[in-house]
Amino acid sequence: SFRPAFAQSQAARAVAGAVQIGANECWTGPFPVAAEAAAKVVAQGNRYDPGDLRGQFLKTVAQVEGIGEDRILPWPGSGDPLVRSVIAFCSPEKGLVTPDPTFESAWRAAAWLKAPLAKVAMQPGKGADVKAMLAANPNAGLYYIVSPNNPTGTVTPLADIEWLANNKPADSVLLVDEAYLHFSEAPSAMGLAKSRKDVIVMRTFSKLFGMAGIRLGLTFADPALHMQMMRYDGRQVTGTLPVTALACGTAAYTAFDAIKARRAEMIAVREDTLAHLKKRGIAYQTGSEGNMFMLDWGKPAKEMQGKMLAQMVQIGRSWEIWPTVSRVTVGSAEDMEKFKIALDKVLMA
Ligand code: PLP
Repeated sequence: SFRPAFAQSQAARAVAGAVQIGANECWTGPFPVAAEAAAKVVAQGNRYDPGDLRGQFLKTVAQVEGIGEDRILPWPGSGDPLVRSVIAFCSPEKGLVTPDPTFESAWRAAAWLKAPLAKVAMQPGKGADVKAMLAANPNAGLYYIVSPNNPTGTVTPLADIEWLANNKPADSVLLVDEAYLHFSEAPSAMGLAKSRKDVIVMRTFSKLFGMAGIRLGLTFADPALHMQMMRYDGRQVTGTLPVTALACGTAAYTAFDAIKARRAEMIAVREDTLAHLKKRGIAYQTGSEGNMFMLDWGKPAKEMQGKMLAQMVQIGRSWEIWPTVSRVTVGSAEDMEKFKIALDKVLMA
């Protein structure tokens, strides 16, 4: 069902003054070199694209990923191409298949389209069950896998993703959402987007790159698939992007040392937090390779989320399939110290 609150931004829903570990954002902003690049173009923001920033961005991405520019499309974030893929490839006859739990935005698009939706339960600690996904609807319009997954952080092995690509019908599309890939050391499914006609790989700068409010994302696919995604608006959305985002993203994409350091920082803080939970005997799911983990309260998660917020710590939501489990985003070391203190208070009360 349509929720009016959907139109509200994450920022609008953030509680002022609370520790923000609810929205899977990065705990810090863009790399300094990227922030400087963005700031420099603000004064030329009267132009749609001063100095061909879009072209420079595409060239950089193509070089780093080793893929042709004709297979790359930039977007203002990845939420748009995600929903657009559902609209382009699903219909009342052609369904959507996803694991459960996963990022729900595709579910809402399918419901609006009246496309059949098959949700395939994930095992705690595991990636998507690709064989069960194909069995759930052997003739779907779109199969959607997030790896590492939101909210579980679990990776679907590349061999499983390849199995689904090779065993689904040729006219179905497989969308691999790699929003959290930079936080893990898992291999990308990019190879499939380089060669196949029926696989889309999607990325965003909203997570490790710390650009959620700046808005930049990417899809990698055969040009014919991209044409289907653009047929509603020509090239309007992808053709004109925030110049600040393009400059920021171009500088960030080759900041390889900074990417590595940020990943290492997140992993250290995540593991330290999980060690605290273990020491206290608090249940959580293992296997996260993302900047999030799932805490099992053993009682209604919504209630516990409210209790944490009363301690000024805003953790993430729960999914219907696991009503006692909350998603918690890994914040800064300081954020997670506050999280631990609030958790101890809430559980001792
Ligand atoms: N895909 C996944 C898996 C996400 O978790 C999110 C946001 O949390 C998005 C896509 C959309 O984010 P954005 O539009 O900021 O790229």
